[in-house]
Amino acid sequence: MSRPDATIAAEAQRILERLGVARDRFEAGTLAVRSPITGEPIGRVVETAAVAVPEAIRRAHAAFLRWRLVPAPRRGELVRLLGEELRAEKQALGRLVTLEVGKVVSEGLGEVQEMIDICDFAVGLSRQLHGLVLPSERPDHKLTEQWHPAGVVGIISAFNFPVAVWSWNAALALVCGDPIVWKPSEKAPLTALAVDALMRRAAARFGDDAPDGLATVLIGGRDVGEALVDDPRVPVVSATGSTRMGRAVGERLARRFAKPILELGGNNASIVTPSADLDLTLRAVAFAAMGTAGQRCTTLRRLMVHDDVYETLVGRLVAVYRTISVGSPVAGDALVGPLIDGAAFAAMGTALDAARAAGGTVHGGERVDVNGAASFYVRPALVEMPGQVGPVAEETFAPILYVLRYRDLDQAIALQNGVPQGLSSSIFGNDLREVERYLSAAGSDCGIANVNMGPSGAEIGGAFGGEKETGGGRESGSDAWRGYMRRQTNAINYGSTLPLAQGVTFDV
Ligand code: NAD
Repeated sequence: MSRPDATIAAEAQRILERLGVARDRFEAGTLAVRSPITGEPIGRVVETAAVAVPEAIRRAHAAFLRWRLVPAPRRGELVRLLGEELRAEKQALGRLVTLEVGKVVSEGLGEVQEMIDICDFAVGLSRQLHGLVLPSERPDHKLTEQWHPAGVVGIISAFNFPVAVWSWNAALALVCGDPIVWKPSEKAPLTALAVDALMRRAAARFGDDAPDGLATVLIGGRDVGEALVDDPRVPVVSATGSTRMGRAVGERLARRFAKPILELGGNNASIVTPSADLDLTLRAVAFAAMGTAGQRCTTLRRLMVHDDVYETLVGRLVAVYRTISVGSPVAGDALVGPLIDGAAFAAMGTALDAARAAGGTVHGGERVDVNGAASFYVRPALVEMPGQVGPVAEETFAPILYVLRYRDLDQAIALQNGVPQGLSSSIFGNDLREVERYLSAAGSDCGIANVNMGPSGAEIGGAFGGEKETGGGRESGSDAWRGYMRRQTNAINYGSTLPLAQGVTFDV
């Protein structure tokens, strides 16, 4: 058998060098990086001291003063070049995602594809950052609205989408005229260095219009994130991570009236109605609940199944849970890879204990020995619950699917909506009335509501984000770009008199 630990570290280093990251940045630092595949160290990354953050932001702000004047379609050219670099290095970067955070190979590659997709989207967008022309109530007047670059955009990202979340923000911010300062997860700094290197390649090809300080990476933990969040030269901060993090960041941003884009925890549910196609439902539930080892913000965590189909569907699901392949993403074709670390494993154990104590019946959930004691692989858990009690209302970032019975659709919708989070959701069924009721104002209260598919695996064309404790932010497609710009209303008098609005007179 090959020695996966030695192979992983060596392969990660080869990829970083290939992408142009200087060795001393990932070998000589203080931040130890471990691959969840084996638990072995794969790098020691140089950290940014919190005291160095203001200087990085000063450079980014200086870049803003130039970048905002570059025509938007020309800014789009930089993002087009970034997309080219990502296309050329999709295999290498996708592989690094796998090595650093343990995603199975197709999901590592899928994450880079998502980056390419958002670059394509943003290039088109660079010619469409449009405002409105509105009818003025005054004669010989015009009322317009235009969108200007907002300023430096801070990006804080989570470990589980270590590169795609950066691109959702970066591609839009750059075409909108905003430099970006990125604080990636301390659990995934290698992929951040790799993306930084590709961004530099694109900027070098773009030429002098791309000012120094346009894209910066700050490696570090919470203190570095806080320094970014508190800096008055950063008018927009997009923060992706736990609700606990978002609450802290949101409060700090509110204190200085900066604009938050908060993408926080989810506790996503699906409802399986009596008219559902159960073959399709089974496959969709399996991917949504077990894919990425349950470590997606949109992972399916709660399943409400109608009494009429409960025994059939849940019986089949339990069999799939028993047999799904769990294993190393680099040594075979397992569908479920490792948890990120021991803390995630401990949290899963705590949640399963709480579920049992609340009357749940747990199928699976045990540890699987794949690569020894330093890595954490688990068989996904399906837990039949007597109601929405115990840990069901919380997000546990692990592959646990709580299954509940229901009789009446309104009851199922109330259960679905009866948690603090509001990210994603879905319904399975072919009864038009039930499906449309679910999508109506009286239905799902989430930012995303799907039909005949699971709640995970969004595409970039739509706006992504959720309500309630998920934070309310929107990223990616549709009109999410507006979050990266400031709106200005212009009233223009092209006549020779001065009529005042609302009929006010003020003759001097
Ligand atoms: P986390 O909250 O532990 O960390 C996220 C990031 O926030 C990291 O970069 C971390 O260093 C930083 N951070 C933490 N506290 C901070 C503070 N007080 N000030 C500034 N920065 C701070 O999250 P995680 O464990 O990396 O990721 C998992 C969580 O992220 C889950 O809850 C998941 O649902 C959520 N998530 C949400 C989305 C979404 O789009 N809604 C996407 C991915 C992940």
